[in-house]
Amino acid sequence: MEHPENAQEYAGLVVNDGVEQPAKVNPHLQRSRFARKKLTASDYVEGILKGNPSILGQAVTLVESTHPAHQAVAQEVIEKCLPHSGKSIRVGISGVPGAGKSTSIDEFGVHILKKHGGKLAVLAIDPSSERTKGSILGDKTRMEKLSVHPDSFIRPSPSAGSLGGVARKTRETIVLCEAAGYDKIFVETVGVGQSETACHSMVDFFLLIQLAGTGDELQGIKRGIMEMADGIVINKCDGNNVDKCQLAATQFRNALHLFPKPESGWSPEVLCYSGFYALGIKEVWDMVYRYIDYVKQTGYFEHRRNEQAKYWMYESINEHLRDSFFQNPTIADMLLAEERCVLQGQKTSFVAAKQLLDAYFALLH
Ligand code: GDP
Repeated sequence: MEHPENAQEYAGLVVNDGVEQPAKVNPHLQRSRFARKKLTASDYVEGILKGNPSILGQAVTLVESTHPAHQAVAQEVIEKCLPHSGKSIRVGISGVPGAGKSTSIDEFGVHILKKHGGKLAVLAIDPSSERTKGSILGDKTRMEKLSVHPDSFIRPSPSAGSLGGVARKTRETIVLCEAAGYDKIFVETVGVGQSETACHSMVDFFLLIQLAGTGDELQGIKRGIMEMADGIVINKCDGNNVDKCQLAATQFRNALHLFPKPESGWSPEVLCYSGFYALGIKEVWDMVYRYIDYVKQTGYFEHRRNEQAKYWMYESINEHLRDSFFQNPTIADMLLAEERCVLQGQKTSFVAAKQLLDAYFALLH
């Protein structure tokens, strides 16, 4: 049944003045009374605060746009939404491709909406994603139940770019979603690289989905991902895979003992479940909510959020400095020549870097 304000009808739509058209335009969008009207920052803020998913979707598109005019409006909208944000629980969900993230998120989402009410936004960080390709994290078609749920908003990862850029946009999108009344935020990320660190730095609970018998136990330890996890869940614990999953759970529990106790004071738990057969879902979320209660009581919840805000301030500075340097046309011209000198052994890397930086700073005066 169609819900008139269903977020998925609108998520991923065009910015009003026509930049960044999505691959497929939902027919409902063309009838939307917002589709042709050019909105001001105040219009966006008003719509978002009213919880209008159409306006929220458009504002997110604006956040994701690289167009300077869009960015200016987006930053104003974010700033005005900021005082209305923060009142949610943010959960990072990570796992390698095939671990069952979308199947699980569908079940997780339906479960928590039923049990705890409220509204859920599913966002994603995948620096390799492109809108035109099929395998976009957070793609609504991968989450059949949530995609037709009136209280959910699913947004694919911002399109390909630097990890820092993609992650910052996801973080800004969290602010907009929270201001729109989404009090549960999932941030999905593909468990193969640095995107875990970015995801970890914007969530309250980091859930790692693992599979039994894939050797992932060691991989996770090696990459430092396990250390970030507040909970490890082993999926596909069904059929004749149950024993293997339970064995894997024991191995993970043993491995976790190798790490020092996390700063939160919480000992990460390891559980088995089946996303596909919806078994053990309640236990997974009881664990997440137990953690949230615990860290709220100890004050670590606030502490982690403050640390994250600090982290993102420095990340933003780094990103802007990097962009300003590399996008400077004089520097861009010099870079190749300097690189050649370094490769030919005519200069050391440090000398070349210093000369480039000196040239850059001289340009600023
Ligand atoms: P993702 O790449 O991490 O998003 O993984 P998907 O959710 O797309 O799942 C990958 C495959 O694993 C699909 O064929 C799913 O049907 C299957 N799958 C997911 N969860 C389970 C589960 O709990 N049990 C079993 N047996 N298969 C599952």
